[in-house]
Amino acid sequence: MSGTRTAIVVGGGIAGPVAALALRRAGIEATVHESYATTADGIGGGLGIAPNGRAALGLVGLDRVGAPMNAIVLQNHKGRTITEIRQPMQFSWRADLYRRLYDLTLSQGVEVHHGHQLVDVRESDTGIRAVFADGTASEEADALIGADGLRSTVRRLIDPQAPQPRYSGLLGFGAQVHGAGLPPTGDRMYMAFGRRAFFGYQSFDDGTGVWFANLPHSYLTWQQVRQTSNEEWLRRLGEAFAGDGVPALELLRRTSPDDLITAGPMQDLPHVPHWHRGRMVLVGDSAHATSPSSGQGVSLAAESAVELARALRDLPHDQAFAAYERARRARVERVIAQGARSNSGKAAGPVGRVVRDALLPLFARLATPEKMAWQYDHRIRWEDPVAA
Ligand SMILES: Cc1cc2nc3c(=O)[nH]c(=O)nc-3n(C[C@H](O)[C@H](O)[C@H](O)COP(=O)(O)OP(=O)(O)OC[C@H]3O[C@@H](n4cnc5c(N)ncnc54)[C@H](O)[C@@H]3O)c2cc1C
Repeated sequence: MSGTRTAIVVGGGIAGPVAALALRRAGIEATVHESYATTADGIGGGLGIAPNGRAALGLVGLDRVGAPMNAIVLQNHKGRTITEIRQPMQFSWRADLYRRLYDLTLSQGVEVHHGHQLVDVRESDTGIRAVFADGTASEEADALIGADGLRSTVRRLIDPQAPQPRYSGLLGFGAQVHGAGLPPTGDRMYMAFGRRAFFGYQSFDDGTGVWFANLPHSYLTWQQVRQTSNEEWLRRLGEAFAGDGVPALELLRRTSPDDLITAGPMQDLPHVPHWHRGRMVLVGDSAHATSPSSGQGVSLAAESAVELARALRDLPHDQAFAAYERARRARVERVIAQGARSNSGKAAGPVGRVVRDALLPLFARLATPEKMAWQYDHRIRWEDPVAA
């Protein structure tokens, strides 16, 4: 018998709602507390959902979301194709995925409280409460789940010495373009290692397109990035891609400054030593943020949320947290390491660039469906009991 009947979920992003839905499926009542006063509709850029993530989302009742992105065409700065990597991904706007999850959560009767920024917890022998910035506290619950993202407060409450996010050396930008002016790329996303920055784009049958850019840069916080105008960032991106044989300049020219998405510094968390303490546990980016380059951030968050709920269904919370960490740690850290390797290729200096371009065909050969099966074919066996 698990003994866990109620849970507080801190964070109403992606991992939080998935955890709440999975807990509900496990017979545990969960309430979500989100710091923002409003929903995150319309906020964020695009992200990839891998087959493993889609399967995990399916376990909580979310069917297909986004558009197919079945191949990545890797190019060099001249726009010459080095290889095409087949991988059955979905491309989704973060806002669309968020809204679908949010609606599903509400439709299942999960309460979502906005304006509840967790600052502390009160733990006793019988349960745990979340304490919010306005001085109020939640009801007592059996467990508290920190789905509060990269800059998690729960992570710090579990371990005040917990590591801070690591900067990849890249700033992220992107946009949706209403008139892309490019032939449709079908279900392919093109990604190019430009001479000074990395560029990805996809164009659709309806004439719209999306692009993203990873720009090598000294560290800036998201707020510092925002201090420079979008016009100026578009100009600097234009400079970075000048002379490259990819349609970056064309897409930048067609991007209205108002539509530019400044994602800020690309960061990850290669190793968080403590995922749980007492009745608190981490899930999603708070425990294992991977750089966007891995294409697995959402997918790993969804997998972890489902695995955690499955463990809490079958085991007392302390054993459940340990079983969950055992099931997840090696996998997520391997993906994070792979994302970090992609980043170092994107941020390569002049010499590194020559080496990288020479080695790209080899890397591409390592990204065959068979070699990537450990990532994409991972499936959670929800019905199987979790052993202590
Ligand atoms: C607004 C937003 C936009 C994003 N856009 C993109 C994108 O375009 N592309 C991409 O690849 N990734 C994006 N991400 C990150 C992506 O969602 C995550 O990497 C991934 O989905 C893992 O989700 P998560 O739920 O663990 O973390 P997140 O999605 O970051 O969600 C964490 C949630 O916890 C809340 N929170 C934080 N601290 C507290 C606190 N103390 N108390 C209560 N709530 C708290 C946050 O407001 C947030 O809603 C975005 C995240 C956010 C918050």
